[in-house]
Amino acid sequence: MSDIENVIIVGSGPAGYTAALYTARANLNPLVIEGFAWGGLLQQTTDVENYPGFPDGVMGPEMMQRFRDQAARFGARLETDQADRIQLATEPGGVHSVWVGDTEHRARTVILAMGAEHKKLGVTGEEALSGRGVSYCATCDAAFFKQATTMIVGGGDSAMEEAIFLSKFASKVTVVHRREEFRASKIMLERAQAQENIEFLTPYTIKEFVAGENNALGHAVVQNIETGEERELLVSGTFIAIGHEPQSGLVRGQVDVDDGGYVITEGRSTRTKLPGVFAAGDLVDHTYRQAITAAGSGCEAALDAEWYLRDTPGVPVPEGMPLGDPAEEQYAPAAD
Ligand code: NAP
Repeated sequence: MSDIENVIIVGSGPAGYTAALYTARANLNPLVIEGFAWGGLLQQTTDVENYPGFPDGVMGPEMMQRFRDQAARFGARLETDQADRIQLATEPGGVHSVWVGDTEHRARTVILAMGAEHKKLGVTGEEALSGRGVSYCATCDAAFFKQATTMIVGGGDSAMEEAIFLSKFASKVTVVHRREEFRASKIMLERAQAQENIEFLTPYTIKEFVAGENNALGHAVVQNIETGEERELLVSGTFIAIGHEPQSGLVRGQVDVDDGGYVITEGRSTRTKLPGVFAAGDLVDHTYRQAITAAGSGCEAALDAEWYLRDTPGVPVPEGMPLGDPAEEQYAPAAD
């Protein structure tokens, strides 16, 4: 068992590393459990052109390397391992525990920044053919499907965005969606519809993915929801874009989550219902889900953690923490 940390950050996307940067610069000596695949979903993207400060764009993995380096530069301790269990205290001033394997790390505050993962369809063949024709990220893998016959599953903005991107590589893209109406915004839908090599198949669901040559995806069995008719779509690439799943499993039943599993925070703050436990990034946000908004909320979580350490009776104020005066508005915690 280790000494009690000031702050443990679980997760390592833009939210986790920004929280690490801020808490490190506040002399809180943060411990970051960054997971094996550190960097989060941005590791799976290519060009990021909408992060301010990079006028020529930056590759997602390079951006995350920079986030990581910057946090490390100020002393954040990065543990490239995964949190297996989290036990959160319920009383103010309580000590929280995060286990990595058999090692228990204890802390006065925890910042949850585990992010979200791509949602799975859960049909036969999906898992076995993942990486062998079934993918969740066109921006990562579209280049492997030059002149190929492909499929996108989903009817939201992500599905349209992926379809448009994929249509620049593939000879044909069929968007398969389970309803006649689309959740995607009108402008995104129209852009996709304007592409000559994008077709739409509705209202269909995917029943199964079937391997062809070399154990790679050969075809998908799709079914018309209204008539029950089944057909085979010969596709060598399928991109599933049906939304995201917040990675809140380790803390469900401890902090509040909404129907979608996103952690609920109080008002404008990053505070969860448990004292000393804060949440940020895609774990909380199902609306904006941008690198810049995740980074912003990571900063907020760091400041909320600092204020908690400064203001909570019974919690010793960490040595070396530059203290703002709560009477000054700029240093006051966010109201609910
Ligand atoms: P989303 O809006 O939740 O759409 C998910 C789509 O997948 C829906 O069409 C849904 O069908 C379908 N779906 C869900 N589960 C399914 C299942 N098990 N089987 C078959 N289909 C399933 O998710 P998103 O497209 O990832 O977008 C998330 C947020 O990011 C949205 O607010 C979106 O506007 C935003 N976003 C914006 C942009 C942009 O503007 N450039 C790009 C990407 C994302 P139903 O409609 O029938 O439920």
